[in-house]
Amino acid sequence: MAATLTGSGIALGFSCSAKFSKRASSSSNRRCIKMSVSVEEKTKKFTLQKSEEAFNAAKNLMPGGVNSPVRAFKSVGGQPVVMDSAKGSRIRDIDGNEYIDYVGSWGPAIIGHADDEVLAALAETMKKGTSFGAPCLLENVLAEMVISAVPSIEMVRFVNSGTEACMGVLRLARAFTGKQKFIKFEGCYHGHANSFLVKAGSGVATLGLPDSPGVPKAATSDTLTAPYNDIAAVEKLFEANKGEIAAIILEPVVGNSGFITPKPEFIEGIRRITKDNGALLIFDEVMTGFRLAYGGAQEYFGITPDLTTLGKIIGGGLPVGAYGGRRDIMEMVAPAGPMYQAGTLSGNPLAMTAGIHTLKRLSQPGTYEYLDKITKELTNGILEAGKKTGHAMCGGYISGMFGFFFTEGPVYDFSDAKKSDTEKFGKFFRGMLEEGVYLAPSQFEAGFTSLAHTSEDIQFTIAAAEKVLSRL
Ligand code: PMP
Repeated sequence: MAATLTGSGIALGFSCSAKFSKRASSSSNRRCIKMSVSVEEKTKKFTLQKSEEAFNAAKNLMPGGVNSPVRAFKSVGGQPVVMDSAKGSRIRDIDGNEYIDYVGSWGPAIIGHADDEVLAALAETMKKGTSFGAPCLLENVLAEMVISAVPSIEMVRFVNSGTEACMGVLRLARAFTGKQKFIKFEGCYHGHANSFLVKAGSGVATLGLPDSPGVPKAATSDTLTAPYNDIAAVEKLFEANKGEIAAIILEPVVGNSGFITPKPEFIEGIRRITKDNGALLIFDEVMTGFRLAYGGAQEYFGITPDLTTLGKIIGGGLPVGAYGGRRDIMEMVAPAGPMYQAGTLSGNPLAMTAGIHTLKRLSQPGTYEYLDKITKELTNGILEAGKKTGHAMCGGYISGMFGFFFTEGPVYDFSDAKKSDTEKFGKFFRGMLEEGVYLAPSQFEAGFTSLAHTSEDIQFTIAAAEKVLSRL
């Protein structure tokens, strides 16, 4: 069980953490604790008392106590952990507990939290101001990096979130094709804009919401849905809506109903169908961009969409989003063209700086091989632990993205994902938390590794998983 370091222990946690981490309940860790922590502190149990107090106060201040729903831990039970700081592969809460973090701020922390180079670059940029509301050189730098990395992107527009990117790209697809309807897949999440809140994944799936009140009927009347990996269903939709479909948008690897990969015939099929029907193909790479490969899922699968959305990693932990694609389409965006979209803080120097330095690190040789190696070790290790302890589990990974379900599988779409024993996942999640491992607090979210995760982190996590699974 994870020791709680309070009072002087908090300082200990930080000062020791370079060599020691609480992840290891190994003798070397205990040695570290013994040397510096009082007997009273050493025998204290894992507690989230301060988190609970802070969250109870937060519930009076913010809806559900949070600013984004999945953080509230609703589907895993208990109260959320209130975080204080993060560095590398670790995140620490306000009670002083340290966790190996597989959420990574939901994706951005791919080179590790609070990377020294990113922080130093941000400090330099900050001296010159945080936002100009006018062009800055850093926008050119990041735009060039994105354009040269992502096969489909010839021009890019930076925005402030993945939601904004998806809103913008849908308006653009409609403007360019002059058609209204679009297809999205069940369990895929493309942010919280009205038109996308139909059979959505992420928090909508986690909370079991069919869709959201407040979404006008008209906003979703042109949203068509199909099960993921079901090319026949897509063909039927094109047949029934001839000449009316502007685009297909999808997560090229799903992370918002848990981790689900596309069948090759599915991803090749939607490219062919969109071409044949004068519709655009949009890859929502907010999660997969710069994560599966430097050029994202489109590089990984060798399928080039017409338009792409990005977010998370390209802002290195600061608020960001982007959409881009074919030059002839992007030139419709204002002020080059008539499709209006704007943003006060879009392209601000801080987000650009964090993005540039994050991508610089990712572009170095061996990066994705490393992510693949540790994520394979992690996923296989957890599945093996499941087998040893007699739990029906399935799962997978690509580069630094992974997931597993408490069901025999295989999982090809959201209805398969929903067969997972979510109650068991909740217990597993909370057990792992006590062992010092922070997983995404929902069965319907993917996990993320980073360049800062070590083999030691992975081995510790697998051992923790085996321990927790054996008592479920
Ligand atoms: N698209 C995908 C694939 C996502 O995973 C997310 C967020 N997890 C979004 C869009 C929305 O991004 P944001 O939360 O930055 O608005």
